[in-house]
Amino acid sequence: MGIESRVTLLNGVKMPKVCFGVFKLQGDEAVQSVNDAFQCGYRGIDTASYYGNEEAVGRAIKASNLSREDLFITSKVWNDEQGYHATLQAFERSLERLGTDYLDLYLIHWPVPELYQETWQALEKLYHEGKVCAIGVSNFERHHLETIAKTSSVTPVINQIEFHPELIQEELRAYCRVKNIQVAAWSPLKRGKVLSNPTIKAISERVGKSPAQVVLRWCLQHDVILNVKSSNLERIKENADVFDFELTREQMAEIDACNQDSRLAHHPDHKPFYDKTVPGRKG
Ligand code: NDP
Repeated sequence: MGIESRVTLLNGVKMPKVCFGVFKLQGDEAVQSVNDAFQCGYRGIDTASYYGNEEAVGRAIKASNLSREDLFITSKVWNDEQGYHATLQAFERSLERLGTDYLDLYLIHWPVPELYQETWQALEKLYHEGKVCAIGVSNFERHHLETIAKTSSVTPVINQIEFHPELIQEELRAYCRVKNIQVAAWSPLKRGKVLSNPTIKAISERVGKSPAQVVLRWCLQHDVILNVKSSNLERIKENADVFDFELTREQMAEIDACNQDSRLAHHPDHKPFYDKTVPGRKG
């Protein structure tokens, strides 16, 4: 099995283990990169209303001539769209921009304290109506997940969190494992910052794989779904080619030991992310 590998989520939906992230990709570059990813066998695309590129992703999907059922499209509701009715409307706008009549996965992008519970109710409604195959969350801490569990009968199938060798999120992952919530990584390469880490470089030389492939393999062996971005065809290919080697238990532990609890984004509990501006988003 390779890039076509999928994991079965709590509700039975099968999600690609390696998805293509499109944060920061815009316009023609986004279309080109998504098409390159399709050519390299990726079928999962991770976008968000916030990224301002759902239209471009939609253009790439259309140009690919791939059948919709073979794709796995994820999008997310942004903070300024949260709340029950606002979320239902935001979802329709995402569908329109993406040129599709359903999503495979819809996520709450950040837990906005006073809104995420009713936002979740809106996601539940979309799920029960069959407009989305699976619903989940992103950047949720354990207490957010516990609140959802108390007030809802639908468990998020995914928690998409910042995860890389310098932020290994052990406790949160352990909690998600117990609850059968699949963890997915955002910025698994820490936007390239972990690739010069001496431990990663040393293991890369030992196993004959690139530092990026070592990091991505480490994520997969932790049972974490990948969302990885590149705008370069060679690197898009490289990031998909992570299924023909295995890290040993010792190598896994060496990489775990790189943890510094070092984040690209602030901790979701410390400073609510209330950015009202949505760069490049239309409509
Ligand atoms: P990544 O960790 O995927 O790193 C992307 C960066 O690494 C780019 O600069 C890319 O450069 C470089 N890169 C990619 N592959 C390689 C390689 N093989 N060798 C060397 N350098 C490489 O960061 P992202 O922040 O993009 O995260 C991935 C995805 O996660 C996003 O695109 C988005 O979909 C999602 N995300 C979700 C968030 C959330 O809050 N839910 C927050 C942030 C991201 P180049 O393009 O030049 O190859």
